[in-house]
Amino acid sequence: FGDKFKQPKGSWNCSVCLLQNKAEDSKCVACQSEKPGSSVPVTSSSVSAFSASSGGFLDLDKFKMPEGSWECEVCSVQNKAEATKCIACENMKPGTKAELK
Ligand SMILES: [Zn+2]
Ligand SMILES: [Zn+2]
Repeated sequence: FGDKFKQPKGSWNCSVCLLQNKAEDSKCVACQSEKPGSSVPVTSSSVSAFSASSGGFLDLDKFKMPEGSWECEVCSVQNKAEATKCIACENMKPGTKAELK
């Protein structure tokens, strides 16, 4: 008695649309919502950890110079990446090899 009202073993009801799904379905066949209890709690914690670490990187990025820019060794002026000479003292960009022909 009562077995008729039991769900098939392992089946589950969607918490969103209340559709009964099979045990092997990991998502609701109707609305694709996650099977209750199959949600991965690791995801949220890993995401928060990731965002925390990436946030640290973002903080470092604030102190970074714009990409490709360089600082003059002589006068410490920051020059743009496309500048091959210091805009202030015309010192050669460090690492710039003179293009000898
Ligand atoms: Zn559903
Ligand atoms: Zn300079």
